[in-house]
Amino acid sequence: QETIDKIAAGEVVERPASVAKELIENSIDAGATAISVEIKGGGIEYLRITDNGSGIDKDQIQIAFLRHSTSKIEDAADLANVRSLGFRGEALSSISAVAKVELITKTKDSLLGASYIIEGAKEVSLTDIGAPNGTTFIIRQLFFNTPARKKFLKSESTEGSYVFDVVEHLALSHPEISFKFLLNGKEKLMTSGNGVLSDTIYQIYGRQIASNVLEINYKDERVSINGFIGKSVIARGNRAFEHFFVNNRYIKSNNLSRACEEGYYGFLMGHQHPFFVININFEDGAVDVNVHPTKQEVRFEDEAFILEILTKVINDRLRKRED
Ligand code: ADP
Ligand code: MG
Repeated sequence: QETIDKIAAGEVVERPASVAKELIENSIDAGATAISVEIKGGGIEYLRITDNGSGIDKDQIQIAFLRHSTSKIEDAADLANVRSLGFRGEALSSISAVAKVELITKTKDSLLGASYIIEGAKEVSLTDIGAPNGTTFIIRQLFFNTPARKKFLKSESTEGSYVFDVVEHLALSHPEISFKFLLNGKEKLMTSGNGVLSDTIYQIYGRQIASNVLEINYKDERVSINGFIGKSVIARGNRAFEHFFVNNRYIKSNNLSRACEEGYYGFLMGHQHPFFVININFEDGAVDVNVHPTKQEVRFEDEAFILEILTKVINDRLRKRED
C-alpha cells in the first residue's frame, strides 16, 4: 500500500505548488471565507494552509487520508455533476505519502479539535486538542523519503514563486475569499475577500495595473465571459499577466491567449502581451469542457466558437473604450 501511495503521489504531488493547490482547493470546497498560506524554504521545508472552513470530524480524519475516499462523490452519477474543485480523493493520501503532515482541525459542532500527525504514510498520532473552528495543514520536508523526486525540484526561490502563482490565481478566481500569503515571514499578498474582482486585482497588482483596465461582460445562451482587460499600455514581454478561468478553474491555453491577443489588433505593438483576467463560464452541458485536474489544460468540444467570441468581445470593448 505504501508503494502504491508513493507512486500515486507522483500524479498529484509534483512540487510544493501542487501541494498548495490541492490543499487550498480543499479549503475552498470546505466553504472557507479566509485562507492563509505560509511557506518557508520554498515550501519544501515548510508549507502551512489555515482556513476557517467546515473542519473535519475527528472520526473522519483517518478516512480522509485513505486513497479514493472522498466526501464529495455520493455515487457514479454524481461524477458527471462535480462542481467542487477536488473530487478524486487522492490529495491527502498522496501528500502524506511523501511528506510529514500535521493536521489541526475542529468543526463548529464539537467542543474540542483534533491533531493528527502522519509521516510518509505512517500514522504517528491522533489526539484531542484545543483549536479554533477550521483546519490547518502543516506540510514539512516534502519528498523526505523520495530523494529521487526531490532532485527534480528547482531552487527554493523558484519553487516559492510557483506557490505564489498558485495563491494569486486562486485569489483572482475567488474574490469572495480573503487570501493571505506569507513567504519566509513576509506578507506578500492580502486580499479582502469582499467579492469585487476589481478590488482583488488592485490588492494583488497595485494601482498601475488596476487603474488601467476595462471591464468586459458578454453572455449568450451557451457561455458568459467576464472580467477585466488591460488597455494597451499594460503590456509585458511574456504571458505572465494573462489569466483565464474556465468554470472557476485556472487554466493555461495558448489558443485562448492568442485569441485574446488578436482582439487587441491595432492596440498592441509587436510582441507585447496585455494584462487580463477573464472568466469563461459555460452553461451546464452547453459545451463539453474537459479540464485536466492537475495540469491546467483545457479541451473544448467547440473551440473555434469560443476563440472567435473571445477575440470579438475584446476587440469590441477596446474600440468602445472612449465612452
Ligand atoms: P478530495 O478533495 O478529492 O475529496 P482530498 O484527498 O483532497 O480529496 O481530501 C479528502 C477529504 O478530506 C475531503 O473530501 C474532505 O472531506 C476532507 N478535507 C480535506 N481538506 C479539508 C479542509 N481544509 N476542510 C475540511 N475538510 C477537508
Ligand atoms: Mg482535494
